[in-house]
Amino acid sequence: MDQPLNLQPQFSIESAADIAREHFGRDGEVSSLPSERDQNFKITAADGQAFVLKIANPQTPPSLIELENAAIQIAFAISSFESPQLIRTLANSTTTTVRDPGGHDCLVRMISFLSGNPLAQEAQLAPSKSFLLGQSLAELDVGLTNLNQHSAAKREFLWDLRNAPAVIRKAISQGTDWFAVDDQNDAASKISLLKFFLAEFEKVESRIADLPCSVIHNDANDYNILVRDPNPLLKESSIALLDFGDLMWTTQINELAIAAAYLLLRDDWMGQIEAITSGYHDARPLSGNELSVLFPLMTMRLCQSVCIANAQRKSKPENEYLGVTEEPAWSALKRLRDENFSDWQLKLTAACFGSQADETKQQDNSGRVVNPIHYKRNELIGPSLSLSYETPLHIVRGKGQYLFDPADGTYLDCVNNVCHVGHCHPKVVAAIEQQASLLNTNTRYLHENLIQYAERLTALLPEQLQVCYFVNSGSEANDLALRMAKACNSGTETVVIDHAYHGHTSALIDLSPYKFKRSGGQGKPEHVHLLSMPDGYRGDHRREHVDWIERYVGEARDTIQSAAQTGRGINAFFAESWLGCGGQVPLPPGYLAPLYDTVRAAGGVCVADEVQVGFGRLGEHFWGFEFQNVVPDIVTMGKPIGNGHPLAAVVTTRKVADAFNNGMEYFNTFGGNPVSCAVGLAVLDVIESEQLQRHALDVGKQILRGLNDLQSEFECLGDVRGSGLFLGIELVDDPAKRTPNAELAKRVVESMKDRRILLSTDGPDENVIKFKPPLVFSAGDAERLVLTLREVLQKL
Ligand code: PMP
Repeated sequence: MDQPLNLQPQFSIESAADIAREHFGRDGEVSSLPSERDQNFKITAADGQAFVLKIANPQTPPSLIELENAAIQIAFAISSFESPQLIRTLANSTTTTVRDPGGHDCLVRMISFLSGNPLAQEAQLAPSKSFLLGQSLAELDVGLTNLNQHSAAKREFLWDLRNAPAVIRKAISQGTDWFAVDDQNDAASKISLLKFFLAEFEKVESRIADLPCSVIHNDANDYNILVRDPNPLLKESSIALLDFGDLMWTTQINELAIAAAYLLLRDDWMGQIEAITSGYHDARPLSGNELSVLFPLMTMRLCQSVCIANAQRKSKPENEYLGVTEEPAWSALKRLRDENFSDWQLKLTAACFGSQADETKQQDNSGRVVNPIHYKRNELIGPSLSLSYETPLHIVRGKGQYLFDPADGTYLDCVNNVCHVGHCHPKVVAAIEQQASLLNTNTRYLHENLIQYAERLTALLPEQLQVCYFVNSGSEANDLALRMAKACNSGTETVVIDHAYHGHTSALIDLSPYKFKRSGGQGKPEHVHLLSMPDGYRGDHRREHVDWIERYVGEARDTIQSAAQTGRGINAFFAESWLGCGGQVPLPPGYLAPLYDTVRAAGGVCVADEVQVGFGRLGEHFWGFEFQNVVPDIVTMGKPIGNGHPLAAVVTTRKVADAFNNGMEYFNTFGGNPVSCAVGLAVLDVIESEQLQRHALDVGKQILRGLNDLQSEFECLGDVRGSGLFLGIELVDDPAKRTPNAELAKRVVESMKDRRILLSTDGPDENVIKFKPPLVFSAGDAERLVLTLREVLQKL
């Protein structure tokens, strides 16, 4: 990282004058300008026009000069600030070569000289200028993204802010010896300052790797920014940016962090850093993550600057320019030590997102600053309602398999199994619109929609399942199923599979180990009996053993029989047809049939919870229970059934329906209303007309192939499983021991989100990445998913 500076060109004033004349046709008075690595001369012509002759250090690769020239041209086209113009040689080129006294070839350019006072010397600075500076830098950064593919952009450079922690750690490790002998006075307190700022930075360091990178100017320090009295006739801007020599591809937020760092040196720094941040945000919106690292990064820049200056001063005591910021930076660091970093995160966020944020001053659980809608949500909405992702997404529109944020940023939705036929499918939307504009009532009048829908739905089920009840959510469906089971027998005991989730009502929390066994849960109620999850990958019995299924079945039978032997009787057996919250675990072939027999023999009712997986998602079959060759007594449906409209259903046998008809009226205000039934019909129409079950099968196979290939490349992909568009990827530490790696799963999901692909995790150990997108997920999406996952796994 430490780059030798010994080849800095050593031309005399006279030679510089000759070069300016011979190559650029410019004559004038020549004076030397400071530079860290190159040699710069000011040429002032007789007419007052001035230019800078820039002689590059011979160690600078020509491609870097080319990159710099391209950036200068991009900057020149931005009207909000001034930047130098490239002056062509007499041979009409932007660059020429001269040999320095040491015999090295140096590239030479000439640019226009911009007059003005360096920001460092402006005693009074209107915050509007800092705002404009932020805005202009953001505009420049947007323009510089065009250079991201340039071969010289990705380089190792000491002044890359990403190197700051290493530079500082090195200084700390050398202790007070690191200072020159005559600097020993407050060496210990300086080292302790570095330690303090490094520790503050380390609190947010892990977020940096996921922030966007791009080409940036990388050195908007207070000597490279000129404040000028603009000439209104020439439409000049009041600020100018110089010196593109540090240009590189790095974390994009570094641009703002660097410029703001030098504003920290000022007495009036507080208002200035808010102004520059909001100006930048105005032209390139900052994310919550970027804002959360901004203040620590500013201080890192000052620490990096003092560390590098100290090292350079030791090796080149004669170059005063090198230490120009050092003392002001140490003073600023001493002052900033008393600042509260969290408060600054809030203030900068408020500067970008408005006073709402300032008024409520709220943070999420991890102390991170959040968007104003998030603040309001924390205030108004129950806190146990969680959000996805470290920085929650604000989504305002959906179409097909895509979701859009307010800036129209597009996300590929791989988790929403509710918007089954695609977000806002036009046929579903039209059905809602048409029926809602005609009639919406409860079911106490005759209406054809209810009948048509019940006919269509039962036609998709085995003939025994012929009686429908319509409700509004999966929970309501399962709750009703439980009531029906209770009407069928006098049993009190219920059997469920471990880690299952069946819904949020009081009765269903009791049947959901996913809830009662975990945080905030009351543990297993006495009347509930758990069958262990028949997980062939990481469960008690594994696919490698020939009789693994029989063992699970045998144990499950024993559990059911011993529940029956309590004398209280089995009421019902609830089972998802494919375990969702349990981590996308398929039931092994032949698992359910013997258990249904055992439950029925004990007088119980068998309920298939198809809330997650029904309606063709699994590809091979329309319903999950069909994989098991069983016919449940009750099937519950939800989520995909209404494509997002609150609709759910219970379909059962005549026998169960008659038992439930015990004199008590069943009434449901919203269930089965004409609008809901119109929606349900439209969803079935689309599944059929777009052949989505078949499509799910094909695309699912394509993804499984891709994931299996990835598995041979990445050991952490312990298991890849599923059917159709219901897949699970189990992340492990050690493939032999199959130890779950929840942290990695979370990081993969976050990194995929940063690449605009939305996934989530689940399973008892939260280490399974769930994939259950709208069924319109295309072959192209599948390819993108696998390629992006590969990129993320490589990076992590
Ligand atoms: N059963 C299963 C299998 C589920 O996954 C869910 C929801 N995750 C429910 C029932 C409850 O459905 P709802 O959230 O619509 O009440």
